Amino acid sequence: RPKPTSRARLPSAKRPLPTSKEEMEVEDGEKCNGKLGHVAPGSVRTAADDAKGRPIKKNISLTALLLQAVTVPTQDVLPANPRILDEVDDLAQLSYLNEPSVLHNLQCRYSQDSIYSKAGPVLLSVNPFKNVHLYGDDIVTAYRKKLLDSPHVYAIADAAYNAMRADEVNQSIVISGESGAGKTETAKIAMQYLAALGGGNGGIESKVVQTSCILEAFGNAKTTRNNNSSRFGKLIEMNFNAAGKICGAKIQTFLLEKSRVVQLSEGERSYHIFYQLCSGVPSSLRGRLRLRSASEYKYLNQSECLQIPNIDDAQKFHHLMGALDSIRICKEDQEHAFEMLAAVLWLGNISFLVTDNQNHIEVVSDEAVTNAAGLMGCSEQDLILTMSTRRVRAGKDEVTKSLTLEQAIDTRDALAMFIYVSLFDWLVEQMNLSLSMGKDNMGRSINILDMYGFESHKKNSFEQFCINYADERLQQHFNKHLFKLEQEEYELDGIDWKRVDFEDNQDCVDLFEKTPIGFISILDELSNLPKATDLAFAAKLKHHFSTNRWFKGERGGTFSIRHHAGEVLYETGKFLEKNQDPIHSEIIELLSSCTGRLPQSFAALLKQSKNRGSASAQSGMSVCRKQSVATKFKGKLFKLIQHLDSTKQHFIRCIRPNNKQIPGAFEKDIALEQLRSCGILQVVRISKSGYPVRISHQEFTQRYVSLLGETKDCQDPLSLSIAILQKFGIVPEMYQVGYTKLYFRKSQIDVLEDVRKQV
Ligand code: ATP
Ligand code: MG
Repeated sequence: RPKPTSRARLPSAKRPLPTSKEEMEVEDGEKCNGKLGHVAPGSVRTAADDAKGRPIKKNISLTALLLQAVTVPTQDVLPANPRILDEVDDLAQLSYLNEPSVLHNLQCRYSQDSIYSKAGPVLLSVNPFKNVHLYGDDIVTAYRKKLLDSPHVYAIADAAYNAMRADEVNQSIVISGESGAGKTETAKIAMQYLAALGGGNGGIESKVVQTSCILEAFGNAKTTRNNNSSRFGKLIEMNFNAAGKICGAKIQTFLLEKSRVVQLSEGERSYHIFYQLCSGVPSSLRGRLRLRSASEYKYLNQSECLQIPNIDDAQKFHHLMGALDSIRICKEDQEHAFEMLAAVLWLGNISFLVTDNQNHIEVVSDEAVTNAAGLMGCSEQDLILTMSTRRVRAGKDEVTKSLTLEQAIDTRDALAMFIYVSLFDWLVEQMNLSLSMGKDNMGRSINILDMYGFESHKKNSFEQFCINYADERLQQHFNKHLFKLEQEEYELDGIDWKRVDFEDNQDCVDLFEKTPIGFISILDELSNLPKATDLAFAAKLKHHFSTNRWFKGERGGTFSIRHHAGEVLYETGKFLEKNQDPIHSEIIELLSSCTGRLPQSFAALLKQSKNRGSASAQSGMSVCRKQSVATKFKGKLFKLIQHLDSTKQHFIRCIRPNNKQIPGAFEKDIALEQLRSCGILQVVRISKSGYPVRISHQEFTQRYVSLLGETKDCQDPLSLSIAILQKFGIVPEMYQVGYTKLYFRKSQIDVLEDVRKQV
């Protein structure tokens, strides 16, 4: 059962009460004793604005309001909360729940580094973009010993740990939020707390913590939204034994963004590991890896962004080597992995010469070819052949055909991406082997989910389509689950409760998932047609969904989806190819011919999946067909949700307070957009429309019993509570009595609080 938060809900006796119940505030937080309340964002319009048709002003200061005539529709002036409720740590405690109040509350808290707040059952975490003194051994101990109970990731992890032990039920901490909101950091903080609680079992907890360093080096990159953006989703399952000690862990990853290996947008970087390797590799290895500086590799220098402010890649590489050691990847394997990275970089430097007017090419045989082949352990000639020719079936025979420039570039990039993704998967497998459960596993676990967050860039492609689909899917899960949880509390405590409907994004999720007419089905259908084009895909979507409110057809090969988190314009270029993800037989053969251990094992894995699929002929060329990327991803998400549903869930919602990644800037518009998109206000509103103030019988009597005057000692808390309520005319419609708590409708407690102050 959730812990009652009644103590925190009651206003502190030390704080001054407002002088008047009408004291309100305008949106910027200035106070006045007039009749002003919060002004809803975007609702203030001056007479001059109206006359000139200027855009509506958003934030207007009190001074501005007093100096000029403004017109504000009455329904847009919202009541402010009494000052006593300033900075409450649960939004559900606000007597008046409206957007400005919530923003004001979060902003005040944020300015004091109180980055965590509760939104009913959800923990909100506003990214501080700086080190805050909220973590460390002392604070862990304080939460462990229940000396602190203000909202915190530690409190969530603690609740999950205790519930797992007490109820013997697996738990999940589901972290969501947009890119850059702080999910990965939050996941690490939760892991650190659990490691502290469950440590002492042969050091496995420190191994679990070290995996983050490896995953981030290989799976995170600088984007325009986040200098350390996760380009894959992950679920970490921490296993505990009967004594509550960590006895193992398992990492599951979701769809790494592989196009980043070969193609970068302006101002973004490829995966951190490449820059770390180039700047941090010890000189003894540098020669063997034939490494140059990052600026000399085309895969890295194309975006003219090689460094991240305040990040020392060389130092990070040093930490990474320590982490690889700690999960017992032997030095030899580490070097093999670095060889693969260096090979990828050299592959990117391979160039082509067009030899005829049909755009056929030959490979420029330079140091890039020599180095790539050397690092992979294949012959230069084989590498050149793979990049420049393909075998094609002509009736029963097979003939060799020269590739065009575009085909050669695609083949080179496909090889580089394949090596990188295989290396990533191999590393995850190594980590899982190293973390696999001991014999004393009792089968109880806490899962931590850190998925990539919603993103909308200038150019959005198949990768954003998948990321935003996952985000949509998780949002739907979030909506459903929270709603249920909230209502369950009433039911369990015996409250008379009428179920409330909740508007969710199911229709948008359906648009992706429905068969045979959904985004993914249509994408698969066209991906399987030899002559289909990306334009045809866009046209088909427009044909089927032009009247759908979640979809917007745009010009040519583009379309928009109105996601719950915002509208995103997608460009369909390469959608079909990325979805099909073809790997040509020549690439498998090349990798099988390599002397290196890793390329061989990558090829073996690919052969297995090829055998599962069926060889097919596309454009007369031999490719191996397997389940499409989007369909595979959909299946994985489905299983993930099923898995989460089999556990008790704890939700954390991260909020990005500004787009500049700077501390101290709480931009209300930006925060509001996220609060709206994830439905936080609705969640709280639902809890408010119910009985947002909940106080245990004991705490209620302790606080207000003095208002009754004389009482008999033998009276139990419940009868005393009822007596107090009756005496002060709180009508039965305004509260309900549960088995353990009293449940009040909004602002009812203010009546008692006012009297209490006057006594
Ligand atoms: P993405 O979806 O792009 O992976 P994310 O939600 O995982 O984004 P993070 O990488 O966790 O975002 O956070 C972005 C940055 O914000 C971090 O690199 C760190 O600088 C800062 N940050 C986040 N949370 C905290 C925190 N609790 N304390 C200090 N800094 C933080
Ligand atoms: Mg992340």
